[in-house]
Amino acid sequence: MKKSRQKVLVVDDSSTARMITSSVLRDYGYWVETAVDGAEGVRKAKFFNPDAMVVDLRMPKMDGFQVCEHIRKSGEKEYIPVLLLTAREDVESVVKGLESGADDYITKPFNEMEFIARVKVLLRLKGLQDELHKANKKLERLSIMDGLTGIFNHRYFQEKIYELLKTMRSEKKELVIGLFDLDYFKMVNDTYGHLTGDRVLKKTSEIIQKNIRSKDILARYGGEEFVIVYPDIEMSEAFEVSKKILKEIEDYEFQGEDKKFRITMSGGLAIYNPEDNPDKDKLIHEADMALYTSKREGRNRITISSVK
Ligand code: GH3
Ligand code: MG
Ligand code: MG
Repeated sequence: MKKSRQKVLVVDDSSTARMITSSVLRDYGYWVETAVDGAEGVRKAKFFNPDAMVVDLRMPKMDGFQVCEHIRKSGEKEYIPVLLLTAREDVESVVKGLESGADDYITKPFNEMEFIARVKVLLRLKGLQDELHKANKKLERLSIMDGLTGIFNHRYFQEKIYELLKTMRSEKKELVIGLFDLDYFKMVNDTYGHLTGDRVLKKTSEIIQKNIRSKDILARYGGEEFVIVYPDIEMSEAFEVSKKILKEIEDYEFQGEDKKFRITMSGGLAIYNPEDNPDKDKLIHEADMALYTSKREGRNRITISSVK
């Protein structure tokens, strides 16, 4: 893969200094963009998305310290390393510069090779920061996903339902929660093996996912239990969608080792009314009781909680 050219943003109020710094960087193959003052530097950092910045310390209005503070504070998703350009007499300010977020400094006039060497260190730092950022994102994603089915996990559901109930309360909207449990799933495992059981769980997740709206949340509640959160919905609609899901699961033919088989699912629905207190545990409990009723009354059905 061709490596794209690394981008450096030069921020300096002196046009001569800007020209010298940028031409050295361009000679070494970097893609250079310039800014004539601190404010423009901060603005350009956002859309030019540089891999490193070379910032003059002394600038009118917004100086190098302030640029660093801004860049670090702005909560940018990606880290931009900063090299401060200081005058010989500024050396005691260097500590302050590093404290305000600069990664390194060099005094003007600089030796070209030393300057480039320092820029390279910054770019290496950038590479490491980006990798770390990517790894963190991946971990974050993994920590909320269920490994087998790829849908959200129980923990994510618990966090999300809490937030959603608060939103529904302030927006005066209703929310429906549905708990679902595959019927006689143990028998699938016992008859066709655990791997086939896993395939059933994956397929069930797929069927549910494609029937719900993008704002609905599907999570694996437990082993063969799923939860759907339907925010901003009426019970009749949540009931219709849930019924359709059950029907599609019932109609789906799974392939066992030597014969085909089908499976059904039961569900329980409970509604949150914004006049109530947003108590998630109470709501989950109501859905669970309704699910239990569906099981007791013969499975492959949905019960709406009547507790209110
Ligand atoms: P019911 O209709 O009353 O729900 O009966 P059931 O057999 O579905 O319920 P039970 O709770 O007795 O069994 C659930 C089974 O789900 C037992 C467990 O081994 C299986 N199970 C849980 N997680 C997984 C998983 O990740 N993969 C597979 N293959 N099986 C799982
Ligand atoms: Mg079950
Ligand atoms: Mg179960």
